[in-house]
Amino acid sequence: MTKQQLIEMMEANELQFEEIAKNIWEHPQLGYNETYASTLQQDTLKEAGFRIEANVGNVETAFIAEVGEGHPIVGILGEFDALPGLSQHVQPTKSPIVDNGPGHGCGHNLLGTAGVEAAIHLKTYMEEHQIKGTLRYYGCSAEELLSGKTFMARAGVFDDLDVVYTWHPGSVAMTTNLSMQALSGVEFHFFGRTAHAAAAPHLGRSALDAVELTNVGANYLREHVPDGSRIHYQITNGGQAPNVVPDKASVFYFLRGKNRAEVDDLLRRMKLVAEGAAMMTETRVEVVITAGCYDTLPNMTLNESMYENAQLLKPITYTAEEQAFAKTLQQNIEPSVVNGSKNATSATRYSTRWRFNFRILSYSANVPHDDAGFFGYWRRIVDYTDGTSNDRLRARFCAATHMASNCFIRFFYWDEGHAQCRSNYGTFCFRCFYNASNY
Ligand SMILES: [Zn+2]
Repeated sequence: MTKQQLIEMMEANELQFEEIAKNIWEHPQLGYNETYASTLQQDTLKEAGFRIEANVGNVETAFIAEVGEGHPIVGILGEFDALPGLSQHVQPTKSPIVDNGPGHGCGHNLLGTAGVEAAIHLKTYMEEHQIKGTLRYYGCSAEELLSGKTFMARAGVFDDLDVVYTWHPGSVAMTTNLSMQALSGVEFHFFGRTAHAAAAPHLGRSALDAVELTNVGANYLREHVPDGSRIHYQITNGGQAPNVVPDKASVFYFLRGKNRAEVDDLLRRMKLVAEGAAMMTETRVEVVITAGCYDTLPNMTLNESMYENAQLLKPITYTAEEQAFAKTLQQNIEPSVVNGSKNATSATRYSTRWRFNFRILSYSANVPHDDAGFFGYWRRIVDYTDGTSNDRLRARFCAATHMASNCFIRFFYWDEGHAQCRSNYGTFCFRCFYNASNY
């Protein structure tokens, strides 16, 4: 079988995977709860002859499907979680199926499915050519929450990989070795003393005041952090009622920076801000780290190899109906947003800060994309930095990513899939998704 024949075989079987992607789109579930997609993909891979290991890293929806044995061990990453509030009928204007319900706005229904498609066809290819080695599909939970692969890395399931591939849906077919930001997720929980807010406010010590002062401190901190840092937050608990001084309040932060060291320092400084707020309000603060990721490490060799292979694929074409759909979609976006997105895209493309080096394989010439949506994705892999011990789980990946807007694309790369677990964690709680006692 030649590479060309492999591609033809995939095209011939495309319908099955279109169906899977559509089914997942129609059953959107948030991170850690993607039972529908996870089961469907497991069943599909099992039927194709893969060995399945479920409940990886104690995450119910995370799994591994494997064939072959020994090295090289080649992995393919797939994801399938939806985003909150993106429930949507199939139409180019906003129309939720369920108000505030989850939906697939980031294409993860395609992301995982294409990985399954790739794994199944590569298995056939390996068998026909009697290629030795192991092929593994990783069904990864909770990509949108930045933390699903962390649990998998902690379980050591990336340790023996030689290479691992991934991709993300987008409007352009391209390869890229874009490096993406490091991140920490941290939640500050404040504890004070409740009191009647009108009758005896002097007896209260407001945990909400501490949250607000933390946010004020963070907003002053912004001026004095390295360029490109990002600090964003959500108040996850602001108390129960205006007439009750809240004794409990929480705020959840994402901190981003160009590398791990910058984010570690940002985290250190934010902890000081929160401690200061606690001191000012005579409350107490507990710090819970919810996620931690390294920046990606680009790998030009893999990128070049993927670019060469991906050129064998036909350009993407769209039907008149699909083009009309896209045009209406675009008309419904505020023009300044389209322009802003276009500018950001161009700026990123030529920015050395991002070590950006993508290569476009094909624009779909007839679709009015306006360069707008080329790469709305950042890597969020697999590192959990414990707030107190500095121990780390880490997997360093490179995203040489092949993207295509026609759903199914076959090759993708991350390099150095060497996850190393060097510690055990006593407790870990990802907000309400996990019972801390499980970890
Ligand atoms: Zn995504």
